[in-house]
Amino acid sequence: MASIEFVRVSKSFDKNEVISDLNLKIEDGKFTVLVGPSGCGKTTLLRMIAGIDPQTSGSVLIDGKDVTRIPPGRRGVAMVFQNYAIYPTMSVRENIEFGLKNNKVPKAERKELVESIAETVGLSDYLDRKPSTLSGGQRQRVALARAMVKKPSVFLMDEPLSNLDAKLRVQMRIELIELHKKLGTTFVYVTHDQVEAMSMADTIVLMNKGVIQQEASPETMYREPVNRFVAEFIGVPPMNIGKLPDGGDVSFGFRPESAVLSAEPLGLHYSERGTVATREMLGSETVYQIRCGDQAFMVKSAEDRFKVDQEVYMGVAADKLCFFDADGKRI
Ligand code: ADP
Ligand code: MG
Repeated sequence: MASIEFVRVSKSFDKNEVISDLNLKIEDGKFTVLVGPSGCGKTTLLRMIAGIDPQTSGSVLIDGKDVTRIPPGRRGVAMVFQNYAIYPTMSVRENIEFGLKNNKVPKAERKELVESIAETVGLSDYLDRKPSTLSGGQRQRVALARAMVKKPSVFLMDEPLSNLDAKLRVQMRIELIELHKKLGTTFVYVTHDQVEAMSMADTIVLMNKGVIQQEASPETMYREPVNRFVAEFIGVPPMNIGKLPDGGDVSFGFRPESAVLSAEPLGLHYSERGTVATREMLGSETVYQIRCGDQAFMVKSAEDRFKVDQEVYMGVAADKLCFFDADGKRI
């Protein structure tokens, strides 16, 4: 187990600075998810922890120790990628065992360790199979097992589920949460998918353009976004943002499930008359797009009683509204 710390870290490729003066503390034993749009610097951060591509300035600390001069193989970290590196000609057992053979671990000990790890990731019945005969999810488990065999104190995962189909992704999310519980090791997981971040993380670190926007639990990130970027990145559909009449540069926001729809005027803090532009029935809830003048808002409702083109009143209670200044900072 280990904590990770970035102290005033910058990273440039040629003259292009992609991470600027970043400070971050990743807690020991936690499941931390780095999330943000493509190109914001997530992979770059992971590679700096692993030591594959060191920072330009500042320090990276693992367990309080500056690892700047420590090579990747000796940092106690293991990395699992989207394109999992497994050898197609070797059996599952040989793939998992590979790292151990290099480290001259005795045969009996190797066998025991491989079998216990295979059991942890649910591969016990597949040890003699070739990767080509496995499903995508099983292959991803082989990659995990290969990382686990080194008993790292930190697992780094770079979009490990993005090559899997939607259903398998959901299942693997649950398996990874359970694996983290079992191992109790520090997990640093990178994804561009906020749903993955929300469903898996103890702590979410949301980045944009090389700058950390907010670091918080999924719950806090959702309920108390510090700026418009966070508010609009987290949530499906994301937070509605609107302009107040005569509000100048101030904008307001509310979550789609925080609005109330009614055929009659509503006595709520924010209330407007609009028209149902679209309606999407999802089973347990219906998502409407409500057009109010030149603005449109998404509203999630448990009720499915409004039709497209119908006139409705949309209201939001005062405590469900938040406000942002001209720079997008939450007021
Ligand atoms: P993410 O993983 O969030 O999608 P990356 O960390 O891969 O983003 O990239 C961050 C920025 O750094 C991008 O603008 C990318 O083009 C740039 N970058 C990453 N690696 C290199 C490299 N080896 N050489 C030049 N630019 C790079
Ligand atoms: Mg990346």
